[in-house]
Amino acid sequence: MDNVLEIEGLFKSYDGKKYALKDCTFSLKKGEICSVVGESGSGKTTLLRLIAGLERPTNGCIKLNDKLVSSDSHITPPQKRQIGMVFQDYALFPHMTVEENIGFGLKNSNNEKISDLLNLIKMNSFGKAYPSELSGGQEQRVALARTLALNPNLLLLDEPFSNLDIGLKSELRLEIKRIVKELKTSLIFITHDLYDALEIADKLIFLKEGIVFQSGTVNEFMTAENSEIKKMISNLKKDAKHLLNK
Ligand code: ADP
Ligand code: MG
Repeated sequence: MDNVLEIEGLFKSYDGKKYALKDCTFSLKKGEICSVVGESGSGKTTLLRLIAGLERPTNGCIKLNDKLVSSDSHITPPQKRQIGMVFQDYALFPHMTVEENIGFGLKNSNNEKISDLLNLIKMNSFGKAYPSELSGGQEQRVALARTLALNPNLLLLDEPFSNLDIGLKSELRLEIKRIVKELKTSLIFITHDLYDALEIADKLIFLKEGIVFQSGTVNEFMTAENSEIKKMISNLKKDAKHLLNK
C-alpha cells in the first residue's frame, strides 16, 4: 500500500456529549498534499492533534504506513510517529541562530544537512542570523526547515500563514508545495481559507461542525454540485479560476 495515512470512522468528543469530530474517513498517499478547510470550530485542529497522537480518539482508528497508531484503546506517542508539525505560533528559539534552530532536533550536529535545508528554504546567507533579525515569512521557513530536519513521513501544518500578509502567504504556500514535492513527503495543510486550500492541495477535505461535508480533488471542488460549495467557489476572487484543471 502506498498510503502514508489511513483514517477510519474517527470520532472525538472532549466532554462525552458534543463531538468535535464525527465519523471522519480519508487516506493520504505518499507525496500527496491534502488541505483541511473549514470555519473556526469545525474540528480542523482536533483532526490534526489526533493524527499527531496528541489526542486519543473516542472511536475509530488511524494508521500510519499500515501500522495502527491510534484507536480508543491504543495510542502510539507523538515522538514515535515520524510526523512533523508546524503550528500557528511557530516559536523559534530566540537565543539560537537560524542554523542552531534548524539543527536543534538532530542527534549529531550535521552541517551538511543544515546547509541542504538552508538551501531548500533559500536562506543560505541567513545561517548565522538570529530570529529577531528575520521577517515573519523567513521565521516560518526556518520553522519548516527545523521540522524537515527530522525526515518526517508526514508534515502537519496548522494555519501556518495566519500572521502573514497576503503576498507573502501566496509565495510561501507555493514554496512549501515545491519543497514537499521535492522531498516526496506528504502534507496535511489546515486553513480556514478556501483559496489557500485550493492553491496548495492535490485534494481537500471540507469540515463543517465536525463532519466531512465534502472531500475530493481540487477539480472536484471547483466543479462541485453542492450549492454551499458552489457559492463559496463563486465567491472566490476571479483569479481562482486558474485553479481549474491545474
Ligand atoms: P478548528 O481548529 O476548526 O477551529 P477545533 O478542533 O479547535 O476547531 O475545535 C472543534 C471543537 O472542539 C470546538 O467546539 C472546540 O471548542 C472544541 N475543542 C477543541 N479543543 C478542545 C479541548 N481541548 N477541550 C474541549 N473542547 C475542545
Ligand atoms: Mg484550529
